[in-house]
Amino acid sequence: MHEMGIANSVLDAVRHESEIRQGARVLKVGVRVGELAAVDPESLRFCFEALVSGSDLEPLVLDLEYCPRRNRCRHCGEIFPATEFPFTCPQCNSEETVLAGGDELEFAYMEIEET
Ligand SMILES: [Zn+2]
Repeated sequence: MHEMGIANSVLDAVRHESEIRQGARVLKVGVRVGELAAVDPESLRFCFEALVSGSDLEPLVLDLEYCPRRNRCRHCGEIFPATEFPFTCPQCNSEETVLAGGDELEFAYMEIEET
């Protein structure tokens, strides 16, 4: 499963961060998943929880931020949620718009216990 690999690399990054900070405990990790990232947020969460459960990382929490597709208008620069094709600019009605977000798969933040 694709999501298992992603969950694993998230946990690798968390362990790495903890090592850099002399074993500080990471409490929460925020990950942004775009609509177009070809990742199912629910299975990512499931895999993450399966890996964390019973491990030294418990009780690490995953904060998934789901990012819908967005387009930017080439004419007026408006950025808008692109839910239905054709992606027409709500400001100027132009159909010349380009993808401006929704394909992200990245770390947002880590919350680390104060020591
Ligand atoms: Zn526009």
